[in-house]
Amino acid sequence: MNVLVIGANGKVGKHIVHKLRKSEHVPYAMLRDTDQIPYFEEIQVPTVLADLEKDFGHAFHGMDAVIFAAGSGPHTGADKTIIIDQEGAIKTADHAMANGVKRYIMLSSIGADRAEEAPDDFKFYLYAKHRADEYVRKTSLDYTIVRPGSLTNEKGTGKVLMEKRTEHGEIPREDVAETLVHLLTVPSSVHKSYDLISGDMPIKKIE
Ligand code: NAP
Repeated sequence: MNVLVIGANGKVGKHIVHKLRKSEHVPYAMLRDTDQIPYFEEIQVPTVLADLEKDFGHAFHGMDAVIFAAGSGPHTGADKTIIIDQEGAIKTADHAMANGVKRYIMLSSIGADRAEEAPDDFKFYLYAKHRADEYVRKTSLDYTIVRPGSLTNEKGTGKVLMEKRTEHGEIPREDVAETLVHLLTVPSSVHKSYDLISGDMPIKKIE
């Protein structure tokens, strides 16, 4: 499949691109800055320039699947979180539908389904993620929503715990990326939402 990676220049996004390169799929890296292109040219990955804050429907032409791995990051305020993590994500679901792109994988966050339990300064982020997740759930997309725990830069172990709900925990970004790529072709994950932390289950055995 041609897979549009939204947030391809991010820390998880780059892992996703590398995993896709080694798979049966073709990654298309969605970037918002021309300075980011050479990194992807070097590894022969096609790029598409598009910004979630502008018109970006063109990025979906010719795609078979989307992985949303973008986010405004921890150093921006609530306004950017709403613009990118919530409204940006919602628009990607609309563009996917408008372009006949059925498979949609959403990188959300652990706790997005229980934002009311979060510390006050974290609630707005989780509610933004929650609203985007809820929107995607109501579409006709073949979606899977993955809510990872705290992300680390440790090397991936290839093993996870992926369940409807888990305790809070950590997980290497590389394992999140491998899981998202693997799930592209796991039919049983369609229309499902999962928490994801490190565990004992080999990612390749998830079916
Ligand atoms: P990251 O390195 O900050 O990557 C986020 C990506 O989103 C960047 O490539 C960024 O582009 C892109 N982006 C931001 N605004 C954009 C826009 N307007 N248009 C297009 N792209 C835009 O984050 P990460 O570490 O890979 O994490 C990915 C996501 O996982 C986070 O955003 C967060 O929502 C979620 N998450 C994080 C944690 C955690 O513990 N940190 C836990 C659970 C879930 P640039 O490269 O151009 O800046």
